[in-house]
Amino acid sequence: MAETVLITGASRGIGREAALLFARQGMRVAINYRIQKEQAEALARLLREQGVDAAAFQADVADREQVFQMVRRVEERFGGVDILVHSAGIAQQKLFTDLTFEEWRHMFAVHVDGLFHCCQAVLPHMIHQKAGRIVTVSSMWGEVGASCEVHYSAAKAAVIGMTKALAKELGPSGITVNCVAPGVIDTDMNASLTDDALAALREETPLCRIGTAQEAAEAIAFLASGRAAFITGQVLGVNGGIVI
Ligand code: NAD
Repeated sequence: MAETVLITGASRGIGREAALLFARQGMRVAINYRIQKEQAEALARLLREQGVDAAAFQADVADREQVFQMVRRVEERFGGVDILVHSAGIAQQKLFTDLTFEEWRHMFAVHVDGLFHCCQAVLPHMIHQKAGRIVTVSSMWGEVGASCEVHYSAAKAAVIGMTKALAKELGPSGITVNCVAPGVIDTDMNASLTDDALAALREETPLCRIGTAQEAAEAIAFLASGRAAFITGQVLGVNGGIVI
């Protein structure tokens, strides 16, 4: 029987590419979006045209009630979630001294609270099945810290901490928890980077370029697959060598 994957923030970027890869593997694909209904519905339609069971589900991952309602709708439509990918995310560049408490809280609400809510909502099914895969999405900045992105770096470091602790707690239940930590990836998230900033990042990267959303998604798909069955609690960098 086909497995069900729920991908948060899947209307575009890395989440969308992951949805396309999982669909190619014949999975049922639940596409979460917050406000980009049209893009999410269009992706679901595209996958259904390819014979894949796919649907779009609205929820702000920072809102616990919305997340639990979404997972209930996914379970009604597809059955329980076998694979969770938490790709939803936001970015902001600002001096630490200028950050408001609301901006700090919002960053944690999406990345950390969002992961907390999503995991708690899908885990009863996974624990009952004694099987499941969770793939979190951190960032190289969660590993090494970024100037003017203290809240982002801290939230992404928390994602890594949660990944490792959950891997230990959930291993005996047959559930793996791993993390993909992308470097600079060509998505809308980086649309505000100037050409000069991008050129400097390319120069700093041993592979001399920025990555594609598909390259980040490939790592997600691998960690969610049977090929990674004995891998848990790990952080896989997809960063062209900029952080080693
Ligand atoms: P993106 O901006 O293209 O996609 C992020 C998606 O998350 C968007 O569809 C957005 O609507 C959604 N989202 C934001 N807040 C949400 C919420 N509260 N509830 C539900 N959905 C929400 O960016 P991306 O590059 O695809 O980013 C995907 C993940 O990868 C993020 O967690 C990001 O932090 C991480 N990441 C990206 C890069 C990069 O260079 N692009 C690098 C490291 C890590």
